[in-house]
Amino acid sequence: GTERPVRTRIAPSPTGDPHVGTAYAALFNLAFARRNGGEFILRVEDTDRTRYVEGSEQQVFDTLRWLGFSWDQGPDVGGPAAPYRQSERLPIYREVADRLLAEGHAYECWCSSERLTQMRERQQKLKIPTGYDRLCYGKTREERAELPGFTEVPVLRMLVPADARIAFTDLIRGEITPPQPDDQVILKADGFPTYHLAVVVDDNAMGVTHVIRGEEWISSTAKHLLLYRWLGWAAPQYAHMPLLRNADRSKISKRKNPAARLKWFQEEGYLPEALVNFLALMGYSMPDGKEIFTFDEVVESFDFARVNPVGPVFDIDKLNWLNGHY
Ligand code: GLU
Repeated sequence: GTERPVRTRIAPSPTGDPHVGTAYAALFNLAFARRNGGEFILRVEDTDRTRYVEGSEQQVFDTLRWLGFSWDQGPDVGGPAAPYRQSERLPIYREVADRLLAEGHAYECWCSSERLTQMRERQQKLKIPTGYDRLCYGKTREERAELPGFTEVPVLRMLVPADARIAFTDLIRGEITPPQPDDQVILKADGFPTYHLAVVVDDNAMGVTHVIRGEEWISSTAKHLLLYRWLGWAAPQYAHMPLLRNADRSKISKRKNPAARLKWFQEEGYLPEALVNFLALMGYSMPDGKEIFTFDEVVESFDFARVNPVGPVFDIDKLNWLNGHY
């Protein structure tokens, strides 16, 4: 088939202080795009209104630029797929959600959050798999309203078939079969899409060919591949990067580790070149094994075969050592 031009993206959520994981994802997405003469997109995933923090989007732009990163398409630079803020794309998601509903791949669910909590607790007590039990599936609004735990405004859920364990070939990890998903919500009661719907609609609309993101999204990929299949769209290729970890191997978090905040490095006076070098060393190895290198050298050598899927531990001593070399 015809090869599409390489396009990668990061999709940060403006939910507070920029996370170091955003810079980590930007580094590899940018390196792969540059290596292949492609484009790198910045898209703002601001569909979770409860977690939205004013001003945090600008902080993401500022800290990424401080690191020397730039993007070819994004909310502040424009591009052919504008707008690049998901909150400004609601009609686009709504149209796709309506299509999935009309084609029988989605259904309305009126269950209250109290009912869903009770359902989950019961499933856990019985030690059966947790997941939506399809109480609303196949029922009209009137039929459902007769039953307990009804709310006025429905959400839309994916009708996930029992054989939805879709295998895919990860560019870093090889063949992966994620766990069977349950019926995911794709459109919320407030009319906003969930991450799963928005990410697929946008990656498709923006011509994203390679999704390079953290390994915590592997189980989501099964849901996304189902949506691509139903919608008849070409799915991107996936590369799931290793997670950055605390010394105790837990996922790096702002609560446990001050270095999870990107601004911490600025406050502590680290040089951006040293931080980029350090982040690249987290899972990536240069062909000649050298430890001090520039971002351009990462671009020149970039190859997924050089990424180690085993999660690297964030070692500040190493960063201090690198910082002394710049
Ligand atoms: N909004 C997600 C994040 O903050 C994006 C995940 C993805 O790249 O698909 O990491």
